[in-house]
Amino acid sequence: PHKVAGGDSTRETSSSSSNAAQVADHYNQRRQLGVQGRMHTKITGLRLFNNWIKSIMIREYAYRGCRVLDLGCGKGGDLRKWAIAGISEYIGMDIAQTSVSQAQKRFLEIRNARFSAQFFAQDCYADPLEKTMRPPDYQADVISAQFCLHYAFETEQKARQMMRNVSSHLSDGGVFICTIPNANWLVFGNTVYQVDFAKDASEIKRFGTAYAFTLDEAVEDCTEYLVHMPTFVQLAREHGLELEYCRDFHNLFVDHTSQRSSVELIHRMRVVDDERPEISADEWEAVGIYLAVAFRKRS
Ligand code: SAM
Repeated sequence: PHKVAGGDSTRETSSSSSNAAQVADHYNQRRQLGVQGRMHTKITGLRLFNNWIKSIMIREYAYRGCRVLDLGCGKGGDLRKWAIAGISEYIGMDIAQTSVSQAQKRFLEIRNARFSAQFFAQDCYADPLEKTMRPPDYQADVISAQFCLHYAFETEQKARQMMRNVSSHLSDGGVFICTIPNANWLVFGNTVYQVDFAKDASEIKRFGTAYAFTLDEAVEDCTEYLVHMPTFVQLAREHGLELEYCRDFHNLFVDHTSQRSSVELIHRMRVVDDERPEISADEWEAVGIYLAVAFRKRS
């Protein structure tokens, strides 16, 4: 019952721009810390907190039997979350072939996964997804893009292609959920994250405002692009999607502190535990970089 197809592991991804190639290299070359290793870094609390946020979003918007498309799926870190949500079908796509292979392996390791999964390596912002995706007319009820959408805002052309890809593969009434850096917050840095704007970035443009981002032990000096929220909302609207939810991670957390199941999940996911009773002040500040966003396609 568990189908794994696609994702030709011998094929390298082609990419239309050198920055996309650089991003793919960056993620392809990242070493994988084991489960234990990942529990003892300077950003363990932040990583687990971000995982908790994704779980909350998935719990909120996915439902039993829904079909999922995960853009920029990385190493498949969210596969278990989708399994818990009881989805029926999953397609994961990412520009980094190594990550896609790791995601494929991770899927096979999930015991009792009751959904089919396919994985494809391709640039999701440069080309139509049909270039590799099978079936090419796959329709998802939930499209997810976690911590990866900022790469699409390098150019208007890429942002539009990303939006076309989302809109054409999302069923009517379906939801597009994503986590993106909050342009209003990304100004200062601290000991956990550093942001270095290019010299010509004194004026924020709708597309292509570059900055070099470093997140301790996770991302090193990687070129990312500001997501100009009004532009994103406008672009989504042009493609038939309306903004339904937008909350920064700090406030999303506050919203959920009164919900018992969400608080229990914080402990189950070991965001805090006896060994690490709180996340550091700098990690907490870094958490605030991000926004959780949901759009719904008009039916
Ligand atoms: N979504 C995963 C998660 O939350 O764990 C991975 C997030 S990781 C910070 C960003 C991912 O975006 C990387 O796996 C990277 O390869 C992918 N990515 C960047 N540019 C991309 C593009 N143009 N097309 C598809 N994936 C891309």
